[in-house]
Amino acid sequence: MARYRGSVCRLCRRENMKMFLKGDRCYSDKCAFDRRSYAPGQHGQRRGKYSGYGVQLREKQKVKRIYGLSEKQFHLTFESADRQKGITGSNLLVALERRLDNVVFRLGFVNSRTQGRHFVRHNHFLVNGKKVNIPSYQVTMGDVVETREKSKNVQSIIDSINAVVRRGLPQWLDLDKDKQKGMIKTLPTREDITTPIKEQLIVELYSK
Ligand code: SF4
Repeated sequence: MARYRGSVCRLCRRENMKMFLKGDRCYSDKCAFDRRSYAPGQHGQRRGKYSGYGVQLREKQKVKRIYGLSEKQFHLTFESADRQKGITGSNLLVALERRLDNVVFRLGFVNSRTQGRHFVRHNHFLVNGKKVNIPSYQVTMGDVVETREKSKNVQSIIDSINAVVRRGLPQWLDLDKDKQKGMIKTLPTREDITTPIKEQLIVELYSK
């Protein structure tokens, strides 16, 4: 599967916002967006105005990059959200938020969603006591997500949990830091997602 392998800081600069793709570095004064908050490339400082289509495209790219999905994965998630009852844009964001790689990031077990995807793939986590190594796994209310016994001493997990206070724990999650155990108290709602996203633009883009 094709995956972007370049500098992720360029993506923040392209989307004109901090997307927190690099863990601790994002909170330090080394953040590339804080230093150069203009688009990458030779003409980056001359950021032009986007057309209607351009605005919709940028919003879709932004959300796709925040959650670290490929175009195909993102489109499939959108189609699934579109088939559900309710507002498609909200369904899409909630489905992205319920992904296991996002949940371990939100719980603070990892310092970025990218690391979340790697750690899920490498069997570091249990869901309801069972190994789950599928990053797109959708958690549901009452699920218990925890690190495996033999992963509890992984230094990056310990460091990341200690830093979770800085990022803040969403109110739909509960965390026992000492046991490295999290619980899905309720399903996330649109209001729980505080990242500035105009999901309606994505719906409009895919509806063309
Ligand atoms: Fe984005 Fe983090 Fe890089 Fe800053 S350090 S530009 S927030 S990925």
